[in-house]
Amino acid sequence: MTSLKKEYEFLNDIGLSSRNSGCYIDGAWKGNGPIVYSINPANNQTIAEVIEASPQDYEEGMKACSEASKIWMQVPAPKRGEIVRQIGDALRSKLQQLGRLVSLEMGKILAEGIGEVQEIIDMCDFAVGLSRQLNGSIIPSERPNHMMLEMWNPLGIVGVITAFNFPCAVMGWNACLALVCGNCVVWKGAPTTPLITVATTKIVVEVLEKNNLPGAIFTSFCGGAEIGQAIAEDTRIPLVSFTGSSKVGLVVQKIVNERFGKCLLELSGNNAIIVMDDADVKLAVRSVLFAAVGTAGQRCTTCRRLLLHESIYHTVLDQLIDLYKQIKIGDPLENGTLLGPLHTQTSRNNFEKGIEIIKAQGGKILTGGALIESEGNFVQPTIVEISPTANVVKDELFGPVLYVMKFKTLNEAIEINNSVPQGLSSSIFTGRPDILFKWIGPQGSDCGIVNVNIPTNGAEIGGAFGGEKATGGGREAGSDSWKQYMRRSTCTINYGSELPLAQGINFG
Ligand code: NAD
Repeated sequence: MTSLKKEYEFLNDIGLSSRNSGCYIDGAWKGNGPIVYSINPANNQTIAEVIEASPQDYEEGMKACSEASKIWMQVPAPKRGEIVRQIGDALRSKLQQLGRLVSLEMGKILAEGIGEVQEIIDMCDFAVGLSRQLNGSIIPSERPNHMMLEMWNPLGIVGVITAFNFPCAVMGWNACLALVCGNCVVWKGAPTTPLITVATTKIVVEVLEKNNLPGAIFTSFCGGAEIGQAIAEDTRIPLVSFTGSSKVGLVVQKIVNERFGKCLLELSGNNAIIVMDDADVKLAVRSVLFAAVGTAGQRCTTCRRLLLHESIYHTVLDQLIDLYKQIKIGDPLENGTLLGPLHTQTSRNNFEKGIEIIKAQGGKILTGGALIESEGNFVQPTIVEISPTANVVKDELFGPVLYVMKFKTLNEAIEINNSVPQGLSSSIFTGRPDILFKWIGPQGSDCGIVNVNIPTNGAEIGGAFGGEKATGGGREAGSDSWKQYMRRSTCTINYGSELPLAQGINFG
């Protein structure tokens, strides 16, 4: 390729050109692996080329990163926070352009592309405050003249492997915390969103360079499964944070466990919304629309199962089907589009195969259910009436397909909610306190995210984000998630001259 097409020229503003080196290694841009093409999912045309990492690039990058970690962990935490504050400012100044690239390369609508970058900015703000609050504790000792305290120390290097659907925000959730906690970051983005990986890395590392810090504090590789596998196997990386499918997450977890590394897993979801008989139907319908159709059903928190009380079943469904027929489908960068394309042609094929399986298992298509003939990967937003016991309902079909089911009692609805292998997000629509407290309590939803009167998606960064069961059990972003990025040291200090032993033991 020679130069960027006119409609892609805005990419120059975020440091991209028609051919890009895909690895940031020891403060320099390199790439000696295969060339990959970044494809626009709205028309399947090439946007630009990226050169991925070779195994030698990986090794060189990791050597430099290991050296840099010795320096970074000694920088005082609030000073690390100041660097993250500057990263937030750098992202603010490129919010529109990077958001536009997220929309262009991933395929989500522009508002969501910009929202994704905003999420990293919010995480930067959160992490700056956190950099002054990585507090340990003092514990009373049972022994005279002894003191016990708990210290939090950096792990060294955090490996971050991310999925295509949040091509930069998930890096941000991890990197902001990892950096203030004193760790270097090694990031491998999704192989189909290499331009976002390169552009985001450029914004981050310019801040390091401006502050005369080693660039290798943030090491970044474009690449696929081989680079991901190398990260999983690498004993220099004590924590691997993996976001992606449960299938690949399980493989990564086994490899990391095998070497006694730590794994933070953010895997597949299969999220339900329950609408009770007393629900505000208008609120519920709007929420389901956003939760099921937003990002073309390609969020881990997308609502895939809608559980309707029998008394409002037809009221909700009729309104929803009516809205589905009005959804504006088209170029995600165009004003007013609500549903963009699926990310790849493979995703589109998976949708088609999924619909066949749904039909074979007794699913009744109420609206949608077909591909849309065009150059891009467009499919119809789909609602399916199906039994909660159908096997297909247990899997995550990564597209805008919503399964609708009827229930009679709250207990039955909770049972259906909890009957799938995944446990990421869930929501109930009700105004009754007895229902909502049961829902968030021990006999309620078994998910990591348990909402009331809001969609399953669109989490705020202040809470810990993640899910149970096949979703992997990890927690990222807010609350005390930072503790996963640090090593806890329990220190007992004897400031006397006797040696009393714990549990009153007298040893000779
Ligand atoms: P994926 O599992 O195919 O790929 C995820 C990442 O793993 C990519 O970077 C990929 O290159 C890498 N990878 C592939 N094989 C590997 C291997 N053997 N070793 C190491 N790394 C390897 O997932 P995807 O299709 O990119 O993303 C969609 C999935 O991610 C969905 O299941 C979605 O629910 C999930 N997801 C979960 C969350 C969450 O927070 N729970 C967030 C976003 C996406």
